[in-house]
Amino acid sequence: MSAPDARPAPKVSFVSLGCPKALVDSERIITRLRAEGYELTRTHAGADLVIVNTCGFLDSAKQESLEAIGTAMNENGKVIVTGCMGAEPEQIAERFPNVLAITGPQQYESVLEKVHLAAPPSHDPFIDLVPPQGIKLTPRHYAYLKISEGCNNRCSFCIIPKLRGDLVSRPLGDVMREAEKLVSAGVKELLVISQDTSAYGIDLKYAESSWRGQDYRTRFLDLSQALGELGVWVRMHYVYPYPHVDAVIPLMAEGKILPYLDIPFQHASPTVLKAMRRPASQEKTLERIRAWRSICPELTLRSTFIVGFPGETDEDFEMLLDFLDEAKIERAGCFKYEPVKGAAANDLGLPVVPNEVMAIRHKRFMEKQQQVSARRQKAKVGRRIQVIIDEMGTTVAKGRSKADAPEIDGNVYVSTKRPLRPGDIVSVRIDRADAYDLHGTAA
Ligand code: SF4
Repeated sequence: MSAPDARPAPKVSFVSLGCPKALVDSERIITRLRAEGYELTRTHAGADLVIVNTCGFLDSAKQESLEAIGTAMNENGKVIVTGCMGAEPEQIAERFPNVLAITGPQQYESVLEKVHLAAPPSHDPFIDLVPPQGIKLTPRHYAYLKISEGCNNRCSFCIIPKLRGDLVSRPLGDVMREAEKLVSAGVKELLVISQDTSAYGIDLKYAESSWRGQDYRTRFLDLSQALGELGVWVRMHYVYPYPHVDAVIPLMAEGKILPYLDIPFQHASPTVLKAMRRPASQEKTLERIRAWRSICPELTLRSTFIVGFPGETDEDFEMLLDFLDEAKIERAGCFKYEPVKGAAANDLGLPVVPNEVMAIRHKRFMEKQQQVSARRQKAKVGRRIQVIIDEMGTTVAKGRSKADAPEIDGNVYVSTKRPLRPGDIVSVRIDRADAYDLHGTAA
């Protein structure tokens, strides 16, 4: 039954751009809007307003954000901009002087304030239902779990600390309560994200925090142990190879958390890493990875790299290719260096790598990466592995193994006689391997 003075719910069209961290911000804003009775629409036309959550990390991402704002202005005209690009509002205001408001990253409250002004809520939050775990933009069976905001590192190519500030960790108890809610709502895989997961809790001096009546410290190891109690897949993203990460590897070997680490190495040459001012660049990374693999042979490493950073020589680049091989990085993304406005790297005075050289290095990197990946994939043929199902077709389901994160890694195509549902975890015999994908049969 609706209240006598109820007006139709205001409609909001939402565009979410950028990394998983931005996606989590979008989910938080949408959860609040839904709780206040707003409706989400898939098209800009007919919506009461549009919110664009922008990404401002690279110039190409900024371009994509500006285009999204342009489309929203043309198709609707009432636009609120938020996210990383909102930290530098001049660029947006110059090009789109009529946007309703521009707010920066994580400014959930100001986004909501602006929405209330432009399209006041018409429902009473007490009678609107929102699932207690919030609204998720990811499929129901997996969810991102953001453990901190900001970053204490100062990598020379990155402006995220300028945009998002220093590290602010969420106390372990808070993170775990959110994780528990997600699991009880049906999530089977948690993807832990932050700018620097291994630095979790440093700002809180690893403060004690309680969960399920037990005391934990707000730090990477304790978080991994606590998440390991939930009985779902737990995947760690954005970890740096600091010595304290060693203690988490046995949890992977015991099957408590997934044997998967996403470590954005960015390069392997000490000279380039130094110019990049990368965290943990002084660590003996190869030795560390070998030691990890001796404890947990199943460990999969995913990483991202940049080729063509100013000053990168042929020798530096060869070192990078050797590293891929020796460290057996089976999942890797490679980006051509792009200068970011406001980044310290622009003032290093190092020689710029010409575009043609950068393109050749990128191609050679991808070829090498494909070989490394294909070798590791081939070794899985004939084995039986666990696969989480993402989508069901008529006779073939699409899923992922423990070695594959959603959206960035490969897939496993599973032939099956019985219908499978997203989130099911099934045992699959691998029949065939491509460079990145696997094909198999469900038991
Ligand atoms: S670790 Fe480096 S690249 Fe990552 S957010 Fe922090 S400063 Fe940027």
